[in-house]
Amino acid sequence: MTNTDTVDAIATAIQVKELALAGSELVRITVNTPEAAAAVPYVREQLDRMNIDVPLVGDFHYNGHRLLKDFPACAEALSKYRINPGNVGRGEKKDLQFGQMIETAIRWNKPVRIGVNWGSLDQDLLARLMDENSHRVQPWSAQKIMYEALITSAVDSAYFAENIGIDKNNIILSCKVSGVQDLISVYRELSRRCDYSLHLGLTEAGMGTKGTVASAAALSILLQEGIGDTIRVSLTPLPAESRTQEVIVASEILQALGLRLFSPSVTACPGCGRTTSTTFQELAKKIDDYLRLQMPVWKFKYPGVEALKVAVMGCIVNGPGESKHADIGISLPGTGESPVAPVFIDGEKAMTLRGENIIENFQEVVENYVHKRFGFSAAH
Ligand code: SF4
Repeated sequence: MTNTDTVDAIATAIQVKELALAGSELVRITVNTPEAAAAVPYVREQLDRMNIDVPLVGDFHYNGHRLLKDFPACAEALSKYRINPGNVGRGEKKDLQFGQMIETAIRWNKPVRIGVNWGSLDQDLLARLMDENSHRVQPWSAQKIMYEALITSAVDSAYFAENIGIDKNNIILSCKVSGVQDLISVYRELSRRCDYSLHLGLTEAGMGTKGTVASAAALSILLQEGIGDTIRVSLTPLPAESRTQEVIVASEILQALGLRLFSPSVTACPGCGRTTSTTFQELAKKIDDYLRLQMPVWKFKYPGVEALKVAVMGCIVNGPGESKHADIGISLPGTGESPVAPVFIDGEKAMTLRGENIIENFQEVVENYVHKRFGFSAAH
């Protein structure tokens, strides 16, 4: 999701492009004011001009029914509407305004994500469930009521949307919470109760390592159980960190689980007392960055290149062995070893690199390998 002011169509389009090039296959943008809604078609236009065809999802709260009605070009330019049933209005207005958004989605044949969030839970529903609970012989825990409220809000809203006439296949549900165990419990129950497509995400996951680990832990368990159709990793960027980090983490989760391939993988050893230089760390980082950076072009030029496996190892102990398991591997010299680096290609020792420019030379070897192996399939 972008964090630009959508009114600034150029800045928003640039960030959407960055996210798309990093691997995002859907980008959500905030649509919170008439000015933002008016800017959405220009964001789309800018992206089309840059040949970025990533679908845009509009994030609506409170006034989405009005914005979608008053700005038909916005409704048309977006590929999906995110509707939060907890933020569409209270009392009688809730069904009316929710219904208006669904009718707009039907008119433009757009899917909707009915996205419940425990930070903005439907308060009327919560009050009703708490009231019902007070009449139970054995009242449920506050946690169980919260789970029930999240799931009921999503599922009942989806049934209501279907009754209005939207196609079931155009409904995606999400129930986001910020606790790992809560998320797992809620989604297991949600997937048991309905067969709508599900969007997974740990909301407000946090910053850096904490947010990354929490998201990976929660999403991996659910994905491994076959739960989830789209995912988002909601990271708070560290100061000066790119917004694209959340896309990289999301794609790494899917790739680590073997569910999708996004970019070549670099296996690197952690290093130990057998290495006194940082060469292998620098090489691993450089190759990883290089491969990731090439992917927007390589994925079209070299079909299948995302399956490439590269190994960068620090010494002779596991270096040759691990390198042989990769498509291309290099075993750098550890402390006391002669300053040469054998390179293995397709399991066989292909050459030995030495001297000052081992990093540059290895990158060249990788480039040539990619061209030879994946360029051929591109031409045929
Ligand atoms: S491959 Fe060598 S340098 Fe790397 S962790 Fe193993 S023993 Fe240490």
